[in-house]
Amino acid sequence: MIVFYTGMNRIAYMYDFFLTEEDRALKLQAREFARRIPRELLIQMDNDDIQYPKQFVKDLAQEKLLGLRFDKECGGQERSWVAEMAVLEEIGILSMALSCLYSLPSICGEALNTFGTAEQKRKFLKPIISGEKFCAEALTEPRGGSDFFGATTTAVKDGDEYILNGQKRFVVGAEGADIFLVYAKTDPDAPRHKSISLFIVERDSGVEAKYIYGLMGTRGGGAGRLYFRDVRVPASNIILGEGEGGRIFNQMMYPERMTSAAGVIGMAQGCIDVATRYARKRKAFGKPIRAFEGVNFKLADALCQVDAARGLVYTAARALDTNQNPSICRRLVSEAKRVSTELCYKAIDNCLQILGGIGYTNVFPIERYFRDARLAQIWTGTSEIMNLIIQHEHFAQYDKNPADCRDIEVDAAEADALEEKIYE
Ligand SMILES: Cc1cc2nc3c(=O)[nH]c(=O)nc-3n(C[C@H](O)[C@H](O)[C@H](O)COP(=O)(O)OP(=O)(O)OC[C@H]3O[C@@H](n4cnc5c(N)ncnc54)[C@H](O)[C@@H]3O)c2cc1C
Repeated sequence: MIVFYTGMNRIAYMYDFFLTEEDRALKLQAREFARRIPRELLIQMDNDDIQYPKQFVKDLAQEKLLGLRFDKECGGQERSWVAEMAVLEEIGILSMALSCLYSLPSICGEALNTFGTAEQKRKFLKPIISGEKFCAEALTEPRGGSDFFGATTTAVKDGDEYILNGQKRFVVGAEGADIFLVYAKTDPDAPRHKSISLFIVERDSGVEAKYIYGLMGTRGGGAGRLYFRDVRVPASNIILGEGEGGRIFNQMMYPERMTSAAGVIGMAQGCIDVATRYARKRKAFGKPIRAFEGVNFKLADALCQVDAARGLVYTAARALDTNQNPSICRRLVSEAKRVSTELCYKAIDNCLQILGGIGYTNVFPIERYFRDARLAQIWTGTSEIMNLIIQHEHFAQYDKNPADCRDIEVDAAEADALEEKIYE
């Protein structure tokens, strides 16, 4: 059955009619959850008065909205990527920091659910999904985040433990999380892609957290720097084995990038709602400003931007749900991340412009979304790194299977001028 209107008589967001009835119900549940979040939480987080609101994550767990894609025996729901993205749009509308806190169990959980031992799932994944423990991902180092394999944090085996030394920075949940997934070099002499391993590190094993950054936006997530000074981790806390960090990283980047891509859609959608209301009410030159093409075309642009983002996000989600080949998945996920974060940022900017001067104040929330959303093009892999992957996978696919559609090169009027086709 196709439903275009929700029970609350609100127009369903685009693509709701692509969802199964079950997924639509889940999305509406998430929408109701987001509606119930008190505005004070958003304001206090933006003021840096609250860091890492654990109750928010506990409430999500209570609603059974965490770990949606994961095995039922670990507390998950075995739902699809499409379902998770639909929920993320709804949670994303709150703020980037809250959508990140929602996403972390999906990101960290991916490593545990896909590669963890039964014991690791029992000890770590289950309590993360049930909201008893809070997780964070420690990948970026002060020396850089884009060059993943250039990591300098080390893990040296000592009997049945590893000793970790090094630093990570910008870790959301540095303040607040109990469990860190930490990438560290186990064999600096190995080829780069075999040099890194992933460890489950519990805060109380001696991890120090310092300095909550003065962020432009996305505040309240407890982002900080982690220090590992001879931190001892049981050898049983390595995921998959030594040198497997690269493989796990590739898998974790799916939820990492998909959650950024989908969360920001929710933010842009919220701003479109505010700008639409404003354009209907606000008058200039004796008319509602929605009558001016300069205004309503901006709304049209924002709608196109957000729906284009959705198109790519749900296409990538379908690719993952249907187990398309990893090269296609990596390309589509990277395209979705880059395009959605860039277009939704532009959409939010268009909405801000529609409000004029008052849009630049905190009388309306769009300035906060604008500050929050800027980060999406930077974290979880910058737009430039997305481009690296997109072109790499394109050439890899092309080298293997050149396009077999009509070869339009021969359709040029002077196609036979081989003496002009010089390549070296
Ligand atoms: C608020 C916040 C929260 C974060 N949360 C987390 C978290 O929870 N966990 C975590 O591990 N990290 C987190 N990050 C880190 C984030 O993922 C990194 O900042 C990001 O990956 C970029 O790394 P970098 O800042 O070291 O920039 P760099 O890697 O130093 O890059 C600097 C610039 O150079 C460009 N560049 C680098 N290499 C290339 C190349 N080969 N080709 C083209 N351009 C290139 C980059 O695109 C960028 O523009 C967070 C960051 C912030 C600000």
